[in-house]
Amino acid sequence: MSTPYETITTDVLIIGAGGAGLRAAIASQAAGAKTTLVCKSLLGKAHTVMAEGGIACALGNVDKEDSWKAHFADTMRGGGMLNQWRMVELFAKEAPERVLELEQWGAVFDRTPEGYISQRPFGAHSYRRLAHVGDRTGLELIRTLQDHAVRVGVEVYMEYTLTRLVKDGERIAGAFGYRRDDGRYVLFRAKAVILATGGWGKLYQVTSNSWESTGDGCAMAYEAGAELIDMEMVQFHPTGMVWPPGVKGILVTEAVRGEGGLLRNANGERFMEKYDPVKMELSSRDVVARSIYKEVQAGRGSPHGGAWLDVTHRGGDYIRRKLPSMYEQFLKLADIDITKEPMEVAPTIHYAMGGVKTTPETGASTVAGLYAAGEVAGGLHGANRLGGNSLSDLLVFGARAGYYAAEYAQKLTEHPRVDEAQIQDEVRTLEAPLTNPGVGNPYAVMEDLQKAMQEGAGIARTEASLKKGLERVLESQGRASRVRVAGTRAFNPAWNTARDLLFMTRLAEAIVRSALERKESRGGHWRTDFPDRVDGLGKVNIVAFKQPDGKMGIKQVPLAPMPEALTKVLEVAKPPEYREIMAKQGLKQ
Ligand SMILES: Cc1cc2nc3c(=O)[nH]c(=O)nc-3n(C[C@H](O)[C@H](O)[C@H](O)COP(=O)(O)OP(=O)(O)OC[C@H]3O[C@@H](n4cnc5c(N)ncnc54)[C@H](O)[C@@H]3O)c2cc1C
Repeated sequence: MSTPYETITTDVLIIGAGGAGLRAAIASQAAGAKTTLVCKSLLGKAHTVMAEGGIACALGNVDKEDSWKAHFADTMRGGGMLNQWRMVELFAKEAPERVLELEQWGAVFDRTPEGYISQRPFGAHSYRRLAHVGDRTGLELIRTLQDHAVRVGVEVYMEYTLTRLVKDGERIAGAFGYRRDDGRYVLFRAKAVILATGGWGKLYQVTSNSWESTGDGCAMAYEAGAELIDMEMVQFHPTGMVWPPGVKGILVTEAVRGEGGLLRNANGERFMEKYDPVKMELSSRDVVARSIYKEVQAGRGSPHGGAWLDVTHRGGDYIRRKLPSMYEQFLKLADIDITKEPMEVAPTIHYAMGGVKTTPETGASTVAGLYAAGEVAGGLHGANRLGGNSLSDLLVFGARAGYYAAEYAQKLTEHPRVDEAQIQDEVRTLEAPLTNPGVGNPYAVMEDLQKAMQEGAGIARTEASLKKGLERVLESQGRASRVRVAGTRAFNPAWNTARDLLFMTRLAEAIVRSALERKESRGGHWRTDFPDRVDGLGKVNIVAFKQPDGKMGIKQVPLAPMPEALTKVLEVAKPPEYREIMAKQGLKQ
């Protein structure tokens, strides 16, 4: 007998209510499609709310010379030239408009003395470019988009976890999952689906990411036949908290360095002078994270295995005004007053550059009717994301995916057929942990997986560490399908975790296999056995895909050649200069 479930019908289903999902929902609704938004937590609680430092966009409010061309060049260079250049072009051109639109919808940004949106410096951006609200920018972005989405009539379902994309032949027909409170099953029938499910920082032991970042959407896309690109590219943010142990990994925003924060080792030396004398503390995240790692390896680390980050020279009033969350975070969690003492920091896993492969203009994946936007999508950031470029990514490509998914949906005269067999197959997968024999504990498997990723595919990688990592990931994958949980589907976090594990172990496999394939160092991918860039590998993306036999395939796909006009932009744009930027901030270095 088949298991009962509720059916909700819509035109465009958006999975995820972070910045990308909300912006997509607004665009889809505005384009005339019935739009439904589903999220795992409450509206307003998505990971985006944690974003701190700002939104990168070349408004030119404080540095008049800034332009989309400079933003394009910085993003390409920062990404090790692995980025999809067309995405970067659209992004750099459209980000200012998307931010001004936010302002029109009620976002209250920090201001310049003349009354324009204020912009702050950030790593590897040539100009002061980040529109911000103190260090609580994500909160303002989410609040504004959420108000607007509700106002325009987007339908919202909170505390639902969707676990399977349903297909009619080769095209998408909706998504199936469960209500997190009572565990009841639900099918969302849709003509188009937009994945806006965010990243997968929870694959690692030390992370700045929230509990939601288990990579569900990316893994669902893979299972449905979509291609994933650049999965080896995960970002270690250089500055996470390290002490006390309970707060390890929590982010210390790059805005601290943007506001003049200095990094020092145990001997009090400003070590960035050695690793990047031009960009110093405002070098790109991959470089700063590796520099801290190297200092620790050389025995010059801080007491808990990191470095010191000092912003005390900016004075108490300034710090409390520009970095209020950091001030409170350290005071409450570590009993440190950052206006008087330095912060102890170390790299923490932060962001997934890779993800679902999309068409730059539309956000369409390689599966008909399936779109992706935000952190779940790959391509924009290449091998390393610049700070602030995620929030503008959500706005630019959220809007595009929403518009084009609505257009696709409106062309279909009727809803695609739902294949009951796929739903019952997913029900069996979901219920297995309640009936499996044995005692396998999902939390123990998750812990082992996170350890395997931290040790095998961490900040420094080798062939040996990755091969060992793959072995451990595949072992976790096998154990994940055999876990046993007590109780029923109602209010059962262990049962929820059991399903998350299937997503997480699949993505872990994609990361490790892709990292083995890329035998060079570029951006966030540091192979100590291949320490340099390899020209040929700079011209290909590593793509992970599901083969007909169900196994994971890995292939190299050449990047499209960049048009001459854009190559010229790269030649002309000047790279960032730390001392110049800090002098404009009124700081002598
Ligand atoms: C502490 C911190 C600070 C940051 N600061 C900045 C910054 O200053 N500037 C910047 O540009 N970037 C910043 N970032 C990065 C940026 O915040 C994220 O990359 C971005 O918010 C991701 O947005 P998103 O819309 O793609 O996904 P998210 O905001 O992660 O939202 C994902 C949504 O998907 C839902 N979801 C997931 N899986 C499922 C499922 N199976 N079923 C139903 N719903 C599901 C979740 O419930 C959630 O609603 C920061 C990140 C962190 C961790």
